[in-house]
Parts: sequence; structure tokens; C-alpha cells
Amino acid sequence: MRKCINLEDQPGFQSIYAPQMQQAIDRGLLGHSGNPKNIDWGYNLPKPIEVPVIRNQPAIPKETPVTPVINPNLPNPVVMGRDPYWDSLWNRYGTEAARIIINKFPSPLIVKGSQYSGSHNSYEGPWSQLKTPFGYGGKDIQTFFHEYGHALDNIIGKATGSIERDTEDGGTRHEGRMETSLGLFGPMEADGFKTGLVFDDSFYWEFIEKNGVVLTDRGRKIPAGLKRGEVENQMKPGDHWRAMKQIVEDAKTNLTRIKNTKNPDPVKVRRMGDELKKLQTLIDLHHVRHTKVAEIITALEKIEQEMDKTMPDFREVGGGDMIGSFTDILAALTGDEVMDKQLVDPIPNGDIGMHGSHGFGYYTQRKESSQGGVIRFSHNARNHSAMYGRRAEIWAELFQFWAQTGGTTQNKQMYEYAKQLFPEMTKYLEEALADATTVKLEGPYYEKYGKM
Ligand SMILES: [Zn+2]
Repeated sequence: MRKCINLEDQPGFQSIYAPQMQQAIDRGLLGHSGNPKNIDWGYNLPKPIEVPVIRNQPAIPKETPVTPVINPNLPNPVVMGRDPYWDSLWNRYGTEAARIIINKFPSPLIVKGSQYSGSHNSYEGPWSQLKTPFGYGGKDIQTFFHEYGHALDNIIGKATGSIERDTEDGGTRHEGRMETSLGLFGPMEADGFKTGLVFDDSFYWEFIEKNGVVLTDRGRKIPAGLKRGEVENQMKPGDHWRAMKQIVEDAKTNLTRIKNTKNPDPVKVRRMGDELKKLQTLIDLHHVRHTKVAEIITALEKIEQEMDKTMPDFREVGGGDMIGSFTDILAALTGDEVMDKQLVDPIPNGDIGMHGSHGFGYYTQRKESSQGGVIRFSHNARNHSAMYGRRAEIWAELFQFWAQTGGTTQNKQMYEYAKQLFPEMTKYLEEALADATTVKLEGPYYEKYGKM
């Protein structure tokens, strides 16, 4: 069907990937449900454009959605066999290419939710279950398209008898599960390195493993000898950056101390000088990356403003709910490290979470922010699960942009910008979806459950 990318072969991700059982990963994601402060897809800021922060965001009044009559000449109209309202969203706001894929594959179950709902569960139903806002204007479209992207990520592999998996779990139940986005890792790395949003930070973890680190002003100490996963489990929001700054200072102290001994060992002096240089290079990369993020956010705000000005149906299609999906891609690529840095040393327009992201700890093994007084680990400290979140969310965010027509003016500016910034990731998405339109539906799972 397509080329399989093995994570272990990806140098940049190698250091942060450890294959583990994939079971319950989606349940882990689903674990975000229930608490309205802790939303699945729901970004910190779903962002209607007139309101700057979520805390003051008024609830969108719920309306009973009207299911319009669809133009009988529309090619490939979607008929999912669910509430026709969902069909109408695709038929009015989805591209023909998207409609063809949706019609070809089995449809997920769809649960009607509140304005902040938005989740996908690959274990429910034979073909996924979505929960998505019902009656909340443009949010209905944007969240539904996003969640449907997750569903297709799951359904395409399962309905084609594919057995590609990013897991060592041999259970047949998982064959083909959430596999389409698996191929994103290589493109994430390629686009990430090129934009500076991803870089090799293995020395950061090596240094902490060797020396430990005291998180200044926090009274907390991460002892030497811990592996990356164990170190991350002790980090709260902001700590990744605090530790970055601290270990540069520590390396300076180490070098000074060794130089000031009576007969400095030249080998040690050179080694510690090298360590300091490596860390200084790393901290520079963080600064460059944060500046790049600020640039991107500025560009996104400009795009959103233009869309608002030029699209008569900007609100209807949920134009104001797109920027948060884009910044979530930045959060996924940077593993929340830019958010950590912004929390401690903010720069203008450098705040990914202000527009939208999954929040601290979703894309890493590090701790989340306090939510309702409870601080917990996302992913139960499983790196595999964190990396799964990154590629699965990027897939769904890009699919969301790709799948929509852009309203009456066919405004595809968000997707065009994504293509420009992330040529490899968008190329992969488009190729995988093109493959999906021609691949044969087959295999024991498809034979068993068919089109339900
Ligand atoms: Zn999602």
C-alpha cells in the first residue's frame, strides 16, 4: 500500500522512542474527557476571534442544526447512514476528494456532543466512534472534520487488511489500527529539521542523566543516573526550559572548577569545554526555534484576519477555529518545549497555547499543568504513547484543512500555508489519501464487519 517507516530507523526520533504496547493508547487520549477544563481536541483556546482568552469565553448558544437539502447534482454526495446532518456538513463544506474517501470506507459511529467535545476512540464500534459538537455553528464543522481525520487514520488500515503497526503487540484486534498516520514520522522529522522546529537534543538528556540537575528556585532536584523517561516524569510545565538554562550554568561551573585545580587535566578540560559548547549550541537552537514559532504565529494571525475580511461565511465555516489547529501542530512538533520556554521566558507572539494546543504533557511524558488541583502524567509516562499523540494529531489537523472547501470563496489559505511550511508532511497526507481512494477493501476484519 505504501512505504512503511520504521521508527527505530528515524535518527531524530530514535532517542525518544521506545516501542511499548499500544493498548489503551486511545483510552489514554479519551482519559481527557469528562472534565470540561480538560478537553480532548479542545484546545486551551477554541478561540472565537472576538475573545482573547478562554477563561472569559462566553458559551456559544446551542442551536438546533438545520439539515439543508443538498444540491441533487452534487457529485459523490456523502451518505453515511447516520444523522443526515453529518452528511450535510461534508456535502456543503467538504471537498469532492474527501467525499469520495468517506463514501468508500465504512463510517464511524458519531455521538452528538457539546461545544468543547471532540474525541475519537478507535476501540469503539468496529469502525471508531467520534464525539463532536452538535449545534455550535462552525465548531461543528471544524471539530467534526478533525475527528473524522482520526477515524480515517484508523479505518483505512483496518478495512484494507493491513497489518502495519507501530507496536510489538501481536493481537489481531490491532491490525491496521491507527496506522495511516504512522508514516508521518519521517516527514515530521524532515519538515521539523528544515524549519528548526525539531532538532537533536539527545545531549540535553545525556547531560542530565550523567549529572542530574537542580531546578533553580523550585527546590527540586533531579538526581543523576535517571533515564530520559524517568527525568521527564519529574518535570512540571516550564521545567524543561529551566533545566536547559541550569545545565548550561552547571557546565560552566564544571569547566571553571577543573581549570582552577592545581594541575588541570588537559583531557578533562577539553571534554568539559566540549560539553559546554554542545549545550550552548542547544540553547541557541531553542532561541531560534522560539523565534520561528513567533514568526509562524504572526503569519497565522495575518491569514486569519484576511480570511475574516474576505470570506462572507468566515463564521459559518468556523474560520476562527482553525488557527488553534495549526498551532497544535507546532505543539506536537516541538513536544511542548516551546510552551515550557514561553512560560518561563516569554517572547512576543511566542505563545502556542494562547491560540490552541493540547496543553502541557500531552505530547511528552512530562507532567501537565494543574487541572482541578490534580497534577497527573499524560500517557502514564509512556513515550510511545506521547509520540503516537504527535503523529495522530498532526494527521488530523492537516486532514481538517485538506478536507474543507474553504466555503463559498474556496479559501484554502490555512492549508496552503501548511503546504509551504510543511511540504513533506502535507505531501505524505495527500499521497496516503490518494492511495486510500484506489486501495482495495479486503482482509478478515473487513470481511467480518463490512460496511457498518
Ligand atoms: Zn485530535
